[in-house]
Amino acid sequence: MAKASGFDILIVGAGVLGAATAYWLSGLYDCTIALADSAQRPGAHTSSRNTGVIHRPYYLDPVKKRTFARTALLSRRLWESLAEAEALPWNPVGTYNVAVEDREVRTVEKYRAWGVENGMDEGEMDLLDGPGVRSREPEVRCRGALFSRTDVSVDFGAFTRSIWRRAVARGVRFLQGRELVSVRKGEEGTEALFRSGSSLSSVRCRLLVNAAGGGALKIAHSLGYARDLAALHFRGEYWVVDQPFASRVVSNIYRPPAFPQYPFLDPHFVVRADGSRQIGPNAVVVPGPYVYSGVGFTILPRFLERPMWPKARLFANSDFLSLVVGEWRSSLSKQAMCARVRMFVPALSPDLLNRRAVFGVRSSVVDRSGFIPEALLIKGESSAHIINFNSPGATGAPAYSALVVNELREAGLLDGFRPSSASASIPGWDFRAVTSQL
Ligand SMILES: Cc1cc2nc3c(=O)[nH]c(=O)nc-3n(C[C@H](O)[C@H](O)[C@H](O)COP(=O)(O)OP(=O)(O)OC[C@H]3O[C@@H](n4cnc5c(N)ncnc54)[C@H](O)[C@@H]3O)c2cc1C
Repeated sequence: MAKASGFDILIVGAGVLGAATAYWLSGLYDCTIALADSAQRPGAHTSSRNTGVIHRPYYLDPVKKRTFARTALLSRRLWESLAEAEALPWNPVGTYNVAVEDREVRTVEKYRAWGVENGMDEGEMDLLDGPGVRSREPEVRCRGALFSRTDVSVDFGAFTRSIWRRAVARGVRFLQGRELVSVRKGEEGTEALFRSGSSLSSVRCRLLVNAAGGGALKIAHSLGYARDLAALHFRGEYWVVDQPFASRVVSNIYRPPAFPQYPFLDPHFVVRADGSRQIGPNAVVVPGPYVYSGVGFTILPRFLERPMWPKARLFANSDFLSLVVGEWRSSLSKQAMCARVRMFVPALSPDLLNRRAVFGVRSSVVDRSGFIPEALLIKGESSAHIINFNSPGATGAPAYSALVVNELREAGLLDGFRPSSASASIPGWDFRAVTSQL
């Protein structure tokens, strides 16, 4: 085993959350920080494998999803400054939330009220009837819709790599290709054991920040935290829509989910940052956070892992089970996926779907009452764990990571680290200004 190295702070997970946390910490403290990831490059997993939409918070319940809503609201302008500073794609296409059935008209009206309650300007949203939508989007059929003008299509993978570069320029050390395999509390902090190929190395730190996305709950469990929570993994699959039909739709088209308590969204028609069009994602149950191919019939061994109760209760629910089966069907057949989008884009046909796009996996955390609506920050003696950081996590990551750092500070976990006088290296990313609005 290689000799142990030591850092003041070790962040595990170089996705958008870990990279942004490293950026804030390296600007605030004059201390040694390492950012470790099992992948060779930052943002290799969910942060690059998503729909790529900066969501405005109109569809987020202002009570149950308050933190996601607030951090999404505040982060848009931070992303915009980064995109400008680094000339990254910024495609302000807007999003229609379409009511396919009469009862969904009430949902999109409620979304408008939620948008205002969550801090959006009324002028950012238009409520339209079916003909109003059709006059703007001739391929779309619906009873009505809420149009959110300020949703933007971006490349979150490119954003992650830019923040990571800024953090590395401030002295953060990137430990690439290192998979955290075990972790334990030591005399003065935490000791982490990493595997890299066939070799093992150990890293000591005073504070471990676990931002390992789909791997985060396992790490928290190994230190004895959140043992009553379990994770379920849902793969979201996409199809590319062929031209020239694709360009006849110019904005993102979403439909409100039928069961908002579950992480099953009806597939959307989306305009990507590069202008291509895709439909997706579905939500196929798979055995782990990085299972990007195959259908999830091998889930049983994972299902039997402890704690089993939260999962068992869900799988005993007939609504949940029928949704799981529906999603498997849409994984096996593009006709099934297409049929769901044809409910609002009727001219879309399976012949226009000839290429699968990049898939991503959402790891949703459940307790005995079902899916947990927000991300959780668990603070230990010398470690902190962010779990369930799901959509719209990429949208809200700049402000959410600032909130994490602020909470670590208030909990005394950053006491003893010398303050730094580094100025914001991304224009507009001012820690105090962001946290004062949270
Ligand atoms: C299909 C899909 C579509 C989505 N669409 C959107 C969207 O349009 N807009 C939006 O705002 N959000 C969206 N999201 C959510 C968003 O992508 C996530 O909330 C966000 O990317 C999570 O970032 P993260 O840094 O926590 O996770 P990740 O990007 O997964 O990063 C975690 C990192 O931890 C590393 N890691 C894990 N375990 C270990 C270990 N043991 N040792 C070392 N490293 C480890 C992994 O390699 C990984 O790089 C979507 C998610 C999915 C799945």
